[in-house]
Formats: sequence, structure tokens, C-alpha cells
Amino acid sequence: MATGAPTNWAGNISYTARAVHQPASLSELHEVITQSSSLRCLGSRHSFNRIADGSEIIDMTTLPEFLELGRDRDTVTVNGAMTYGRLAELLAPLGFAVHNLASLPHISIAGAIATGTHGSGDRNGNLASGVAGLQIMTGSGDIVQVRRGDPDWDGHVVSLGALGAVTSVTLDIEPSFDVEQRVYDGPSLASLAERFDEIFGAAYSVSAFTDWRGGAQQIWVKHRVGEPAEQITGLAEATGKRHPLIGLDPQACTEQSGAPGPWWDRLPHFRLEFTPSAGEEIQSEFFVGRADAASAIEALERIGGAIAEALLVSEVRTVAEDSMWMSPHHGRPSVAFHFTWVRDEQLASDAAGRVADALAPFDPRPHWGKLFDDGRVDVAAAYPRRDDFLALVERTDARGVFRNRWFDDVIG
Ligand SMILES: Cc1cc2nc3c(=O)[nH]c(=O)nc-3n(C[C@H](O)[C@H](O)[C@H](O)COP(=O)(O)OP(=O)(O)OC[C@H]3O[C@@H](n4cnc5c(N)ncnc54)[C@H](O)[C@@H]3O)c2cc1C
Repeated sequence: MATGAPTNWAGNISYTARAVHQPASLSELHEVITQSSSLRCLGSRHSFNRIADGSEIIDMTTLPEFLELGRDRDTVTVNGAMTYGRLAELLAPLGFAVHNLASLPHISIAGAIATGTHGSGDRNGNLASGVAGLQIMTGSGDIVQVRRGDPDWDGHVVSLGALGAVTSVTLDIEPSFDVEQRVYDGPSLASLAERFDEIFGAAYSVSAFTDWRGGAQQIWVKHRVGEPAEQITGLAEATGKRHPLIGLDPQACTEQSGAPGPWWDRLPHFRLEFTPSAGEEIQSEFFVGRADAASAIEALERIGGAIAEALLVSEVRTVAEDSMWMSPHHGRPSVAFHFTWVRDEQLASDAAGRVADALAPFDPRPHWGKLFDDGRVDVAAAYPRRDDFLALVERTDARGVFRNRWFDDVIG
């Protein structure tokens, strides 16, 4: 069944697709793909740019849900459109966990891994790094199965939606673990820069929230129970529960009292049953190498006043290095500088441009799913395996069914 085109979650993108297909089975998906010359898959619509737009769109959420535990009980295979929140609901009673989550559990697994979506933690790779296998229906309608270790594996997971429709994802799992979350009043930005390794190394996952003017307003510390606890000296624990956006109701946020709770109820900042973040917003994010953390913080503090009108809040996180060809964390341990902007395209674009300029000395890579000016990104320079990825896309999808305008403009 085909319906009219929806908007993305934030409402800043109206998809231009002339049809949205809603296959209820793999055979219907096969029919849609083989009868079309240009398609794009849609996950949970949480991206902020035209990465998911196309002449026609496949809404992957109408395919059947499934979850199969691997024979060795160290992986689980699920439908691509399953959200991490739903995965948690199904995994938790089985006593398993995945290594990390983004700030919200509402996003689809296939959509998140396609863009290199990440949480925080010096030792935590992005969510794509926890993928052990994929099943993809390519533009010819054939099913391709790939597993970690196969030739060209590193080109398959952060695929930007260009290889085909991801129908199943096999994820690494581990025994369920508990996390204690506490929020601290942050130090000055100068101190955040100076003590970066100490603060971000203090727990399994650490985030700093700031407006780049008044210091780091909040440090969110997610300590994995059973690991040694490091104290961040000199920071006072917040009195009362906090929302990253000062003034918004913290009820939407996960527990911060330090009480231990399951991974799925502490690693995201936002609870599944509430609207994450502000809702009326646009987001940008840029990654620089870990070695440049302090200089990048200083550079952003210098433009704090200039981006103030557009900025709701900014978040700093760390992501471990990986080898995936199109991952923004390819080949370097990374620091993520995230910006939640007001939902005003012009203000947000101008502010994102200022951020890109400020970070230019540190070779920033943008988050593929967020707002950035593609004219400022030299993808060939930033991604040494880009040509291998383009060759893989051509081999896998010879008809170019899953390429879209965004892909041609940004990736080449
Ligand atoms: C409130 C909010 C908070 C966020 N927090 C974080 C965060 O903490 N960390 C972070 O890194 N990002 C974050 N993001 C960004 C978000 O994680 C990414 O944009 C992610 O790609 C969204 O997944 P999705 O399923 O909504 O993908 P969509 O926006 O639906 O699609 C993204 C891409 O995935 C492709 N795709 C989707 N499903 C399939 C499929 N089955 N097969 C093939 N291709 C597919 C699409 O074609 C497109 O190229 C946040 C976004 C919002 C709105």
C-alpha cells in the first residue's frame, strides 16, 4: 500500500517522495523494490536532513517484528525497523543487554546504525560497532547476508541507507547490567577542557551539557555497577532532577538519584514513554579527534555569544574509534559536540556554519543524520575509504535504486 509522504520527527523536513510504500512482508518488499527505479528506506524519521528522502520511500516499520537469540546466546537478530526501546523490552526479560544506547530509545536500529548514531563513553564504540551481521534486500531484490569479518564488512553497517533495505540486524549482546546515574553541576569550560580526560574517564558513559557561555552547566555520569567508581573531585551533585534543557520538566528523563537501574533505563537520557529533548528543534553534531578536545572546547567558547540566539543546549560526549569506512569515528577516538537548535532553519544553519568554522582546524566530521552544510565537508579527505564505499554501493546496488539526491550531493 502506498500513502502520502510524512514529515520527519522534528517537523523541519517534509519528505518529497511521491509515494510511501508500506510492505507487510518480505515478498511485498521485494515487489516494491523490483518495480521501482528510485527508493529510500525510512526508519523512525529522527534524522534532521534529507538523508531519508527519495522519489519513493519504503516505510520499514510495517514489516513484521521478530527477535531470535543466537545459538551461542551472544547475539540477537531482529527486524531492522525495531526501535532500541522495543529491543530493550524484549531483551531485558531474557537477561541480556547491548553495550550502549543513544540519548533516546525511540530510534530504529537500522536507521541508527546507518548514520553512525552513538551514545557516550571512552570505551564505547558507536551503535554500529555492536552489529555482528546484516541481511539486506538490494536493488535487484536479492537478499545479501553479511557478517563481521566478511570481505568489505566495514563498508556495510554505516551504509547511509545506500546499499538496500536492511531487513534484519544481528547485534552483539552481553549479560544485563545495572547503571547508576548522577548529575553534577558542571565546572567552568576552562576546567572542562583542562580536566577532560579525568571527567570523561570517570564512568562508563559521561555527558557534559553547556550553552558555551555560562560554563558546563551539567555533567551526567552513568556508572556501570561492578566497575571501579572514580570520583570527579570538586563537583557538587545537583539538588533535584534535571532536564538537559534548563526549565523543561525532568519527568521525561531517566532516574538520576544514583539508584542502580537496568542499562535500558539509565543509558538513554530520555524515557521511552515521553517526548525526548525539546521536540520543536533542529540538531547538528560534529566530531573531532580526542586529542583536540581541549582546543575545540576553547574554540566553541569563543563563539558562544554568536550562536546563543539559535542554541537551546549543547552536549559533549566521547566515542571510541572504529574501522567502519563511513563512520564519523573512523580511525580516531572522537569527541562529539552536539547542538540542539531552535526550530528555525535559517538561524540553525547560520549557527551550524559558525560551529563548522570554529572547528575547522580540527577536521570536524558531521553527524550524517543532523543538519550541516555539505559544501563545507570534504568527504573524500575526511573519509579515506570513501572510494571503496562508493565501489561497494555500485557493486551491491548496480541499478542505483537506493541512492538519493542527498547521497549524490554529500558523498559523491
Ligand atoms: C531527539 C533526538 C535525539 C537524538 N539523539 C541522538 C544521540 O544521542 N546520538 C546520535 O548519534 N544521534 C542522535 N539522534 C539522531 C538519530 O539517532 C539519527 O538521525 C538516526 O539515524 C535516526 O534513526 P531513524 O531510524 O530515525 O532513521 P531515519 O531518519 O528514518 O533514516 C536515517 C537513515 O537510515 C536509513 N534507513 C532507515 N531504516 C533503514 C532500513 N531498514 N534499511 C536501510 N536503510 C535504512 C534511511 O534511508 C536514512 O538514510 C537524535 C535524534 C533526535 C530526533
